[in-house]
Amino acid sequence: KGERLRLPPWLKTDIPVGREFHRLRRDLRGLGLTTVCEEAKCPNIGECWGGGEGRPATATIMVMGDQCTRGCRFCSVKTARSPPPLDPAEPVNTGMAVAKWGVDYIVITSVDRDDVEDMGADHFARTVEEIKKRNPVVLVEGLTPDFQGRKDCIARVARSGLEVYAHNIETVRELHWLVRDPRAGYRQSLEVLEHAKQVNPDLVTKSSIMLGCGETDEQVLQTLNDLRKSGVDCVTLGQYMQPTKQHLKVKEYVPPEKFKFWEDVGERLGFAYTASGPLVRSSYKAGEFYIKNIVE
Ligand code: SF4
Ligand code: SF4
Repeated sequence: KGERLRLPPWLKTDIPVGREFHRLRRDLRGLGLTTVCEEAKCPNIGECWGGGEGRPATATIMVMGDQCTRGCRFCSVKTARSPPPLDPAEPVNTGMAVAKWGVDYIVITSVDRDDVEDMGADHFARTVEEIKKRNPVVLVEGLTPDFQGRKDCIARVARSGLEVYAHNIETVRELHWLVRDPRAGYRQSLEVLEHAKQVNPDLVTKSSIMLGCGETDEQVLQTLNDLRKSGVDCVTLGQYMQPTKQHLKVKEYVPPEKFKFWEDVGERLGFAYTASGPLVRSSYKAGEFYIKNIVE
C-alpha cells in the first residue's frame, strides 16, 4: 500500500535511435516477428538495434504466442489457461525472417506453455535450428522457460545449437512467492541452468535479477553466489519497473551507484561478465557483451 514512488531522474531517458534502428524496423514489417523490444517499449532499443561501430545489432523476439499459462506479478504478458495451439510453421518462418533481417545476435524468448506436453521445448529448439540452418553466423541466445524443471526438455533446447542458454532467476529466494508464478521456483531455476550446462558444457549460461522488489543486500549476494555455484557464466541486474497499476509495486528505485557496486561484486565472484545498471535488461547489449567477454 501507500504512494507510488516517483521516477528518479536516471530512469527518465530519451531513446537514442540510429540509422540501423530505422532499417531494422522497416525490414521487420511484414516478417511477422514479435519483438520484445517493441512490445515492452524497451528503453534500450536504439542502442541494441543500432549496432554499428563494431557493435553487433541485437534484438529479442518472442515465440510460442503472446499468451502465457503463468501469471508472474511483475510481467505484462497476457495470461491464459489454454492459449491457442502452437503455430507449427513458426520455427521455419522465424528462421527465414531472422535470416532476412540481418541482425547479428538474436535472443529468442517465449511465454511459458504449461498446457503443451513438452512445454514447447521441441518447438523452441526447432526455432533455433531453423535460424542456424539459414544463417550459421548469427549468434543465438535462448531465454527459456523453466520447463517445470523437466530434464528432457532442457536437454532438447541445450543441444539445439544455440550459443547462450539463459534462464532468469528474476529475484532472490525470499521474494519468489511474491514476484513469480507459484509454479516457478528458486531451486528449480538454478537446476535448469545446471542441467543445461551439464548436457552441453560448451554453452554459456546466463541469468538475470531484478532489483527494487524489496530484496536486501544479503539476499542479492546470496543469489549471485548461488548462480555462481550453479556454474552460471553471466549475470545481469536491472531495475524492476511496474508495467501497469495491477502489477507488483516498485519498492525502491535502486541508485546507479548501487548497480555499480553489484557489478564489482559480480566481477569478484568470477562471472565472465556482469551487466548491472538501472536500465539493464537481460538482453541488454547481449551481443556486445558476448563478443567482448566470451569470444575475445
Ligand atoms: Fe530488445 Fe533486450 Fe535490447 Fe531491450 S534490452 S532493446 S528487449 S534486446
Ligand atoms: Fe511473464 Fe514469463 Fe512469468 Fe509468463 S512465465 S508471466 S512470460 S515472466
